[in-house]
Amino acid sequence: MTERGSDPGSPGLAAASDTALAELAQRSAALEGQPAESILAWVFERWAGLRIGLSSAFGPEGCALIHLARAVRPDVPIYTIDTGYLFAETLAVREAFRAQGADIRVVEPLVTLRAQAERHGPDLFARDPDACCEIRKVEPMRRVLDRLDVWITAIRRDQASTRAGTPILGTARRADGGLVIKVAPLVAWTRKDTWRYLLDHDVPYNPLLDAGYTSIGCEPCTARPPGDDERGGRWSGTGKTECGIHHL
Ligand code: SF4
Repeated sequence: MTERGSDPGSPGLAAASDTALAELAQRSAALEGQPAESILAWVFERWAGLRIGLSSAFGPEGCALIHLARAVRPDVPIYTIDTGYLFAETLAVREAFRAQGADIRVVEPLVTLRAQAERHGPDLFARDPDACCEIRKVEPMRRVLDRLDVWITAIRRDQASTRAGTPILGTARRADGGLVIKVAPLVAWTRKDTWRYLLDHDVPYNPLLDAGYTSIGCEPCTARPPGDDERGGRWSGTGKTECGIHHL
């Protein structure tokens, strides 16, 4: 399934905003130290009546998360944003999960690459990557959040200093101001944990990760990292470290 416009069958709900933030923080603290599988099982049971979805860009953690979540809920919707700049290898991983029966929902930006070039000139990513990410990643992610009450994401605390304080249960804000519960079951995982899981469970992953890449996004903004910084190959040399979806 590929989605570009709004989904009239999925009106935004305010259900998540009714959840007390204090209870969420308390629950989050109680889940610390629990295995990712247990966190996911608890989430699917606790919020069984709400719309739960996962997002993935098919990085190593995203692939592990899909496998973990589908072990609990095989039909969990998996939202992924196709910016138009993805590596062919990333698209192949996406299709590998689809072939396994995963409910992959591709969301595209409202603005085509051609329209973006006409409005902003060619290669906006090279001149203003924040503006490019806003159009091609953040705006589509806002539309994903509009149709979810619970968003499960694969970020890890040790990926970057900006992610170090990520709680297991937090919130993200939708365009309408409502809150979505944001679940990060892998926050305590290390890179080694991720790879152990992928290899132990024979999970599909991007072959570029065997070719020196450690974090993979859009092709124009992704390189092999120059040093040990796992995300150092993303927007290399620009000072930019995040696309913005985890600031929603
Ligand atoms: Fe544009 Fe690069 Fe952001 Fe992709 S990662 S949306 S190409 S700036």
